[in-house]
Amino acid sequence: MAQIELRDVGLSYFTLMQETEALRDINLTVEQGEFISVVGPSGCGKSTLLSLVSGMHKPTKGRVEIDGREVAGNSPKVGYMLQHDHLFEWRDVLGNVTVGAEIRRMDRKKAEGKALELLERYGLGGFAHHNPSQLSGGMRQRVALIRTLVTEPDIMLLDEPFSALDYQTRLTLADEIHGIIKDQGKTAILVTHDISEAISMADRVMVMSRRPSTISTVYDIRFEEGTGLSPWRKREAARYNQYFNAIWRELEGHVVFAR
Ligand code: ADP
Repeated sequence: MAQIELRDVGLSYFTLMQETEALRDINLTVEQGEFISVVGPSGCGKSTLLSLVSGMHKPTKGRVEIDGREVAGNSPKVGYMLQHDHLFEWRDVLGNVTVGAEIRRMDRKKAEGKALELLERYGLGGFAHHNPSQLSGGMRQRVALIRTLVTEPDIMLLDEPFSALDYQTRLTLADEIHGIIKDQGKTAILVTHDISEAISMADRVMVMSRRPSTISTVYDIRFEEGTGLSPWRKREAARYNQYFNAIWRELEGHVVFAR
């Protein structure tokens, strides 16, 4: 059974003045442990798609399922990672990574144990009692990811998590975050406007059309160099440029059409 399934999904936003049809006829299945990237013109409905999986919004049409059950309200199986880390400056790193567990009223001792284990495993063990302001932007985003992992989600939704960072940090962090998510066996959906990030992190890249947005193409990302390559290695792989050019051309088509 697929872990995430969207069947004939549509979503419209209604305000007093107008209806905005964001998504139309979306069909998607994601297997456990798979990493999917979503790219598309700005405002086409990528974040909306994530909000359907997280249960923040209900589809206007069709059905969204996680593990064969219809999503109804915020699902504890789902964790978010956003562009801004939203760390609390008045709490130390350990206090920050256990905050989600506190909100969910998980056992405090257990959450702290898990948090310390994850911080240690992913190179932040020496920073548990530092304040967020003492960390680099990349480290802060790793802390934000660990905060979510402490709540033990099965699915990670990543909404432009690197876009506030400088280019060098983005490249390194993409490698690190990809490594952590694969190591933890999580299923992930990444929304990004960066084609090279989309290709280098994902098993499949989904290109969306302009609004009302449908899935225009899904690319299976496979390299002759082997499976399980890091984003860094994928960027160097022979077929990488072919994927890049194909997706670039397709996105150009959608953007030009929308002008
Ligand atoms: P993307 O993530 O691809 O940039 P979004 O999913 O944020 O796009 O938005 C898709 C469309 O839906 C946009 O036209 C946006 O203005 C509109 N939209 C998003 N959220 C709301 C909302 N809460 N109410 C009304 N319209 C919305």
